[in-house]
Amino acid sequence: MQVYADNAATAKMRPAALQTYISTAKEYYGNPSSLHEAGQAAKEVLEESRARIANMIGAEAREIIFTSGGSEADNQAIFSAAMFGAKKGKKKIVSTAIEHHAVLHALDRLKSEGFEIVLAPVDPNGIVNMSALEQAIDENTCLVSVMLANNEIGTIQPVREIGAICKSKGVLFHTDAVQAVGHISVDVTALNADYLALSAHKFGGPRGVGALYVKKGAPLFPLVEGGAQERGKRAGTENLPAVAAMATALKESLLHLDQATAKVTALREKLIEGLLKIPHSALNGDRIKRLAGNASFCFEGIEGEGLLLYLSDMGVSASSGSACTSGSLDPSHVLLAIGRVHDVAHGSLRLTLNEENTEEEIDYLLKVVPEAVEKIRSFSPVWRDLQNGKRSFIL
Ligand SMILES: *Cc1c(COP(=O)(O)O)cnc(C)c1O
Repeated sequence: MQVYADNAATAKMRPAALQTYISTAKEYYGNPSSLHEAGQAAKEVLEESRARIANMIGAEAREIIFTSGGSEADNQAIFSAAMFGAKKGKKKIVSTAIEHHAVLHALDRLKSEGFEIVLAPVDPNGIVNMSALEQAIDENTCLVSVMLANNEIGTIQPVREIGAICKSKGVLFHTDAVQAVGHISVDVTALNADYLALSAHKFGGPRGVGALYVKKGAPLFPLVEGGAQERGKRAGTENLPAVAAMATALKESLLHLDQATAKVTALREKLIEGLLKIPHSALNGDRIKRLAGNASFCFEGIEGEGLLLYLSDMGVSASSGSACTSGSLDPSHVLLAIGRVHDVAHGSLRLTLNEENTEEEIDYLLKVVPEAVEKIRSFSPVWRDLQNGKRSFIL
């Protein structure tokens, strides 16, 4: 059996989005910047897609900039707010310890350029510590950046409250909503966001396309210089088929969102209940305030990589944390931030479902994952030490 359970890394394209992609590439071949008919027809599709996407997140069309994906959108928001802040002598940015690397590495660069970066801690369930966050915001702060939902452990942050705090303090607020858009309802006005990043391939659209919402009046500088596309804020001929397909994918995602959420939550709960029967295991992230499809675990006494390879042989596509950190031997910064010690953090497994997953697939996972954990443990020197008492169990 083949089970694709890595939807937080990237989800399969929705058939309707693929159809839009193909027909747009075929029929709207003109360059939207061209004055001839073919160009203007393409321009119309571009602007219609922008209006539709804006509408689905409570924004106005002119507040949407198309980008190459979530990473670029995050980077542009952060560097724009930082440049604006620096001009006014405000060089402090407040964020959290569990952000995606698209945010954390952008902040690293700003740190090397003299910015003060404060990362608020999270509690053991992965929810940001609000008093630490609020206390860190002062008169030198130019930006607060907090993700809406975490890509590794699925926790949903109190972003609405954070947005309200930022608004009352007059500080710009960015939220990385890449895991949230298309999965929970998102309204930029309710969130009080000045910037919001989204990415199509996390909700059934194509890879390599995303959008940045920028509230009217919020500072925005281009990362890419060139032509006047996207009101001069993002040069380069627009990826029209991808943009149109993104609009279709978002529409499809939101059409049956409640139904899909109920179905996926039920599958996830069955999966969590079953896998927590594995001895010395734990769920990562908040049991309630989490994305419907996210099931993240730590199993003591194993290496996550070995587990992934074993599962891959059994037809299961899973992840050990974020796709971006696999290949490196450092444990996930998110798991460390929720208080997992190194050894435990190494034994992580992330299974992310969507409405394409079936009950039969969950049954299969409930059979093969415990087998895989037992097998990997039988080869593990750490597990042997735990068994004979040379080390003590943490989970
Ligand atoms: C995937 C992801 C990104 C990066 O998006 P890309 O479109 O792959 O560049 C950023 N933030 C979060 C939370 C993500 O899950």
